[in-house]
Amino acid sequence: MTRTDPSTTSLPAFAGRHVGPRADDVEAMLRVVGQPSLEALLDTAVPAGIRASSTVDVAPAASEAAVLAELRELAGRNEVVTSMIGLGYYGTITPTVIQRGVLENPAWYTAYTPYQPEISQGRLEALLNFQTMVAELTALETAGSSLLDEATAAAEAMTLMHRATRAKPDAVLVVDVHAFPQTVAVVSTRARPLGIDVVVADLDGVDSSDALRQVAGGRDVFGVLVQYPGADGLLRDFRALTAAAHEAGALLAAAADLLALTLVVPPGEWGADIAVGTTQRFGVPMGFGGPHAGYLAVRSGLERQLPGRLVGVSVDSAGHPAYRLALQTREQHIRREKATSNICTAQVLLAVMASMYAVYHGPEGLRAIAEHVHGKALVLAAALRAGGVDVLDGVFFDTVTARVPGRAVDIVAAARDRGVNLRLVDDDTVSLSVDETTTDEHTKAALDAFAMSPAGWIAVAPMEEEAFRRTSAYLTHPVFHEHRSETQLLRYLRRLADKDFALDRGMIPLGSCTMKLNATTEMLAITWPEFANLHPFAPAEQTEGIRALVDELAGWLCEITGYDAVSLQPNAGSQGEFSGLLAIRAFHEANGQADRRVCLIPASAHGTNAASAVMAGMTVVVVRTAPDGTVDLDDLRAKVEQHREDLAAVMVTYPSTHGVYEDTITELCALVHDAGGQVYVDGANLNALIGLAKPGRFGADVSHLNLHKTFCIPHGGGGPGVGPVAVRTHLAAYLPNHPLDPGAGPATGVGPVAAAPYGSAGILPISWAYVRLMGGEGLSYATQVAVLNANYVAARLREHYPVLYAGTAGLVAHECILDLRSITKETGVTVDDVAKRLVDYGFHAPTMSFPVAGTLMVEPTESEDKGELDRFCDAMIAIREEIAAVAAGEVAVGDSMLRHAPHTAAALAGGWDHPYDRATAVFPAGVQADAKYWPPVGRVDGAYGDRHLVCSCPPPEAFED
Ligand SMILES: *Cc1c(COP(=O)(O)O)cnc(C)c1O
Repeated sequence: MTRTDPSTTSLPAFAGRHVGPRADDVEAMLRVVGQPSLEALLDTAVPAGIRASSTVDVAPAASEAAVLAELRELAGRNEVVTSMIGLGYYGTITPTVIQRGVLENPAWYTAYTPYQPEISQGRLEALLNFQTMVAELTALETAGSSLLDEATAAAEAMTLMHRATRAKPDAVLVVDVHAFPQTVAVVSTRARPLGIDVVVADLDGVDSSDALRQVAGGRDVFGVLVQYPGADGLLRDFRALTAAAHEAGALLAAAADLLALTLVVPPGEWGADIAVGTTQRFGVPMGFGGPHAGYLAVRSGLERQLPGRLVGVSVDSAGHPAYRLALQTREQHIRREKATSNICTAQVLLAVMASMYAVYHGPEGLRAIAEHVHGKALVLAAALRAGGVDVLDGVFFDTVTARVPGRAVDIVAAARDRGVNLRLVDDDTVSLSVDETTTDEHTKAALDAFAMSPAGWIAVAPMEEEAFRRTSAYLTHPVFHEHRSETQLLRYLRRLADKDFALDRGMIPLGSCTMKLNATTEMLAITWPEFANLHPFAPAEQTEGIRALVDELAGWLCEITGYDAVSLQPNAGSQGEFSGLLAIRAFHEANGQADRRVCLIPASAHGTNAASAVMAGMTVVVVRTAPDGTVDLDDLRAKVEQHREDLAAVMVTYPSTHGVYEDTITELCALVHDAGGQVYVDGANLNALIGLAKPGRFGADVSHLNLHKTFCIPHGGGGPGVGPVAVRTHLAAYLPNHPLDPGAGPATGVGPVAAAPYGSAGILPISWAYVRLMGGEGLSYATQVAVLNANYVAARLREHYPVLYAGTAGLVAHECILDLRSITKETGVTVDDVAKRLVDYGFHAPTMSFPVAGTLMVEPTESEDKGELDRFCDAMIAIREEIAAVAAGEVAVGDSMLRHAPHTAAALAGGWDHPYDRATAVFPAGVQADAKYWPPVGRVDGAYGDRHLVCSCPPPEAFED
């Protein structure tokens, strides 16, 4: 049966909005591909052995209006209560111009990771602002462009300190007893598989290396992690501790609150080597735990050790400053099992929001907010003390801890009745955290729960304690001073967004990344207060709606994948991989086979796979790729045999990263199972499987999915993401859990892998809405058209560029690899040249040199219509003709349009010494002058930027001609 237009079949109406090609387009494209029907195409492309017997049995599709009504109903089951819980999550006011201009603006949220710097200058500038903001507030030299959350940033700091100190095998990490409990738990989850011992200790009075060694049980210490201010609210002077750590050859990392740092002496000034934390309270709603941008900053000398992405300043072909991602060679996609971190997708959109919050408020504005917060906390402490309550003694910023022997539960309940959530520390202790949104009514209600009333009001209060008072300046760069009126900020946001190429301009044909439609209806609910303003540790009875949504989505993901249990906690694909491998590890340990530690990974795998395996304490053994691109089964057989005793798992991507449905997958699963190993299927390519095959049924034991690829969460310019891990029953006991939420995972779980129980829960309504709008049939139809679109591109381009791999009948799966290697050899034209020339044609480049160097990988997705696919194919064919001119000797490659691409408006207006004319350079075939995308900079010099590393905002003079 041929599926045709949704309007003429049983397909849901929304499927016709989500899927690009119309019915007659589908027919025409099938003819080009040489297949009689969609069914025939899939029957030929997908091995019969893996086709799922049943369809996808999720709730029948509903209309956009109906889905919004259902979301309203779910939202209504959440109760938004003023939060004074603290612990790294605070109420914050998102300036509405930022909410609408960034968070709700497709020009920002539909952008891809800025690997192509020429079309990403806007978000790179925003990220550089973020780095500058973090570096200056922490008083450390270099900050990265975001991590996943505070707890995982602390775990990254641990491994950084371990590497940088070349720690001895028995050296330990000492963690401050006042660190946030979720941070201690995540750090412990990450330490365990690496064989690192974590000692939680009271560090008060530790002022020598001997004393430090003593709290570490007499062992060497490689790192110390402190919380500043502590979970109890107190600011501690860590100068002596830091000196002691350094004396012991250890490094010290401080988990620090950026808002507090506007008032108090920052970690860099008291000697910390590293600072980590969250930027949530800089205008990013709590969202029941995420997403928010975590940060990590280091002192000079450690910048080349930073995990994750780092924006740097370089120059373009005209010598003008231009931004780019720096030191890419550190990253997992290059270093694989030698990588220092598996982080790939980070939190770009949220980092942009936080940086804009600083741009909007400037240093005085931030300081005023901090003084408001501090003032209210002083009011609380004074009133409690006046009422005879024992308040923890010491200097605090925003959090007051009260000792109320035997009364804590009652007081928290009384506060809840008055509309305020307090933190129940234990039966005798309550703490109260103040934030930007706290009003006098809130403080009054909180005090009323203690049967007390405020003794007086303080509007704002500077840090009164001189030893902690910050005197150094911060955010001095003009960018934090120039955009204070809403008009100015509005225009700044617009100016930056205009520099970038996102899905709202055209196709982003990235292999392995599934840049599909992020529908408006899917996006709407994330900013509703009932989802946005929930604290992740709020009482369960206040969060019924979001919990129901989480459960329902998890159930649908099980149905779609054929697995039995899902955890939505991992906040990126990389974290899902780590979680899945931890489950495998725990399973072997439970079976008395703790020695099973070898992870077989094909040479073609995504870099995160190998990096995650190492983080899970496994040894990576690489399996060769056969000449046809499939996993070399003979090599696999040999390696399985060789590791019969210590095989933990094989980690494969399906369909393969080469974009082919390998028909050997069931055999591969059986081989590994027979040898006692587990099968991990990287589910990032699930867009080629939904409704066709279920990994949980064709032999795999565990997969992670990427909701920011297959399930419509926008890429955000490089994050947020959600990377659920899905397992079969025998691994379900080893999924992540959370110390502060028993409902978030099995009691026997491996510990948390993210700070919040449900990770980036705030964006789950997007994927929930996608499944709800599409229904099982719509989801299956999307897969079919995704495969058709990829085969259509392959069919149209094959005679111009060799398609590297194909399966049965020359068909590919949902993406195809265009092989430029022979072209490069003959003409000198590189994949870079083609990628940059595509910018002149108004396209984002495909994925470059992954999984095979010298190739381009194209994944059109089902959302691109035939017109856009044709525009892309026509551009690629026209570029092939430009290459032919080089081959024919008509123009030297060094003088060609290809090599000088992309062409800027400035280059056009300046002196012109090229052998080709201006019009052909900027308005090549198919490009309309009135719809032209102008890249703001010429080709960016990567090597220069790495040699002259600059990772904060350059002075304005740098941009003068
Ligand atoms: C994107 C991707 C990943 C990593 O996911 P992140 O969310 O970026 O961490 C892993 N494997 C494959 C095949 C991918 O395409």
